[in-house]
Amino acid sequence: MSEIKIVDTTLRDGEQTAGVVFANHEKIRIAKMLDAIGVDQIEAGIPVMGGHEKEAIKEICKLGLRASIMGWNRAVVKDVEQSLECGVDAVAISISTSDIHIEHKLHSTRAKVIEDMVKATRFAKQHGVYVSVNAEDASRSDPDYLIEFATAAREAGADRLRYCDTVGILDPFRTYERVKNLIDKVGIDVEMHTHNDFGMATANALAGVRAGARWVGVTVIGLGERAGNAALEEVVMALKYLEGIDLNFKTEKFREIAEYVSLASKRELPAWKPIVGSNMFAHESGIHADGALKDPRTYEVFRPEEVGLERQIVIGKHSGTAAIQAKFQEYGITLTKEEANDILARVRVAAVELKRPLFDKELAYIYEDYLHDRKKVAF
Ligand code: MN
Repeated sequence: MSEIKIVDTTLRDGEQTAGVVFANHEKIRIAKMLDAIGVDQIEAGIPVMGGHEKEAIKEICKLGLRASIMGWNRAVVKDVEQSLECGVDAVAISISTSDIHIEHKLHSTRAKVIEDMVKATRFAKQHGVYVSVNAEDASRSDPDYLIEFATAAREAGADRLRYCDTVGILDPFRTYERVKNLIDKVGIDVEMHTHNDFGMATANALAGVRAGARWVGVTVIGLGERAGNAALEEVVMALKYLEGIDLNFKTEKFREIAEYVSLASKRELPAWKPIVGSNMFAHESGIHADGALKDPRTYEVFRPEEVGLERQIVIGKHSGTAAIQAKFQEYGITLTKEEANDILARVRVAAVELKRPLFDKELAYIYEDYLHDRKKVAF
């Protein structure tokens, strides 16, 4: 099985999200972090936009990163010229292949779409850069036309085809069939570019990999238009733990980059976010906390340190005595089973009143009150 490669488009598709804008120093910081983590290719932006955008891409190219740097283009020669001016070593050449886009957006024809793509691709290849031809809205395109388009791309010298589920309408079963058929018929490297409108971006990316796609397009925390893209951290960890494909990424930096992109994009990082959410390794319910304390593997698939998080036993309404004992042991206090039970009853009352778990300080007060009350009873 050939190696799977990751192209991150946080700086292009991620920034394209309604309401998101990165400052240039943020784009540069994110590019450095992506490179350090192990991303193979960074889609850095859209050179033809000019101004700040073009400057940022030029600067990223000058960083001397290990990763390939890609510029995004429409299937237009002057767009590609702008990319080349930035010093990128790879270009994405994008054009829609679905009839709904060809007719209603491009006001073009199937034949003209192929002609434009071939022209831009040939031009880019003459200048020695790596080319990804992006079939925008591929998932809603006529499969026969898509084969014709991909074959023309391959013959024009394209290095891969980006299969875009632009509006996120695929499911993993359909993805597998379509991508497998495309690869069988055309024999071109395929990148999965999936959107999360039905919550299947990561699953569809994995299905594409099973079907033979060698590249996966992602963004940090799934930042992207509407419901977002397949998330970098989800795809890399799912490949490792569900598919047995270890890309040797520095996954321990995942929480850090997630926090940074969340801050820079002004998008919250929910506690329940897969892989990097703060709740990933927080256990409250009695049975889970007891299991996790005895052996974390009972309720965790991987160690928190692997993604830069920490295990947390939360003390609240659903806690059990084992968690109470373990928590007080952290403060150097050994509780008997009976003491832990008495304190647990008080914890539950407080947690229901407050409608949340308890802070350490609150637990300390509960313990003080408990000792005080017990003395009163004793005398
Ligand atoms: Mn997209």
